[in-house]
Amino acid sequence: MKNKGLLIVLSGPSGAGKDTVIDRVISNDGSITRLISATTRAPRPSEINGIDYFFISKEEFCKNISAGKLLEYTKYCENYYGTLKDSVEKLRSEGKNVILKIEIDGARQIKEKCPDSLRIFILPPTMQELKNRLLKRGSEPYKNLKIRLNRAIEEIKFSLQYDYIVVNDNIDECAAAINSIINAEKFKPCRMKNIVNEVLNDEKNTDR
Ligand code: 5GP
Repeated sequence: MKNKGLLIVLSGPSGAGKDTVIDRVISNDGSITRLISATTRAPRPSEINGIDYFFISKEEFCKNISAGKLLEYTKYCENYYGTLKDSVEKLRSEGKNVILKIEIDGARQIKEKCPDSLRIFILPPTMQELKNRLLKRGSEPYKNLKIRLNRAIEEIKFSLQYDYIVVNDNIDECAAAINSIINAEKFKPCRMKNIVNEVLNDEKNTDR
């Protein structure tokens, strides 16, 4: 019997390197897939609709909220971000391990609704390094940079509520640590119930 896929919540301040880490984690393990969120934020020059995000209007986002289509959502630095419920359920029922790249408020909502989710926080090695990465990315006007750095402090304080914290100093090591955590999580007793029952049922048909 196939187990339902894991729901993996990956958070970390803007500039912690979440996208690169997620790409590496997925290329290390083909059972993992990333869910594409919806946002009202404008796309950055390199971003593509349907690949990086579903870029939608505020009106459409609010319609999704009213229709109960979002598993979680939040307002982050003046824009809305949210996870579409149906997409998560479909992938998990196919046995896929789904990664959500979401901030702390969304992670809190997911923990309430899906207590069996696995929450991992990616920490930058230092605040200076975080600032350097945001400046290098060059996607934020200076005003937004300050907002994102203040928000980063809030998020880092909340990281102690997560199941695991991994420092992203080196991308290979950070991704490998996350792959190990995900692998270990698959074997927790609460996720092995189907297998245990299968073995017990099989035992009934076995000659003693
Ligand atoms: P960015 O604008 O840098 O792409 O994302 C800003 C923040 O929003 C990041 O911390 C990112 O993880 C978070 N985020 C992206 N998608 C979602 C989502 O669907 N829900 C929530 N709650 N946060 C999200």
